[in-house]
Amino acid sequence: MTKKVYLENPYIRQLDGRIVQKRYIDDKYYIKTNQTIFYPNLLDGQPGDKGTINGIKVLDVYEDGDDIIHVVDENIPSKNVQLSIDWDNRLDYMQQHSGQHLLSAAFYKLYNGETIGFYIGEEHSYVDVDIPYMDDEHINKIELFANKIIYSNFSIKAYTIKKEDMNRLPVRNEPQAESNIRIVEIDGIDFSPCNGTHLRSTGEIGIIKIRDVQAHKGHIRVNFLCGYRALKDYGDIMEENRRLKESIKSMQGGKKTYSE
Ligand SMILES: [Zn+2]
Repeated sequence: MTKKVYLENPYIRQLDGRIVQKRYIDDKYYIKTNQTIFYPNLLDGQPGDKGTINGIKVLDVYEDGDDIIHVVDENIPSKNVQLSIDWDNRLDYMQQHSGQHLLSAAFYKLYNGETIGFYIGEEHSYVDVDIPYMDDEHINKIELFANKIIYSNFSIKAYTIKKEDMNRLPVRNEPQAESNIRIVEIDGIDFSPCNGTHLRSTGEIGIIKIRDVQAHKGHIRVNFLCGYRALKDYGDIMEENRRLKESIKSMQGGKKTYSE
């Protein structure tokens, strides 16, 4: 069983490990280490980590039972290795994932809207909420509520409980695991079963911005951005505005010349 260090401490960027199994199939090496900081791909809706093992690029990371497999296309001859994750990429996913929990909590607390699905991708993320329609005023309230929790800087913690102890906590959705259930808690505000990597506090989410809300199969799909992604988006919009202003200016300038 691979020791999943990312669950204990998602802030570790480098780790020494030992290769315990190596398989060579179709020009690729499938590597199992005694422990890892690499979050596997498509587990709990969070994309897998990018990074290197002994400087060699990891192409894919996935779960195989209780183990984590790292895929590389170069041989790593030594048994003792250094695992290193792309921290900017991990932080980005942690911001989106913790933000998703918070946004889902806001829909649940304010309007009893349950999250029936979510997606965190490289470019965009969304939550599907079982509410058929929501106007701008209500969406603004959700956004404000979520951001107030960010600026109040509540702690986020993860711990494991037994299934029989589940009813002691107001857990927002049903866990998939049968025995030990990992709960991610936003300081008494939200309890959600999750195996993802999360930030230490809501303040690190930075900001939640709802980009748009679409009707989708009888519910709403809420596209959102958190943290540095939202900052980049703000920069992009400013740039777009600048270009628009310039083109209007040149059109007006053109008109003037024409009327003269
Ligand atoms: Zn989660």
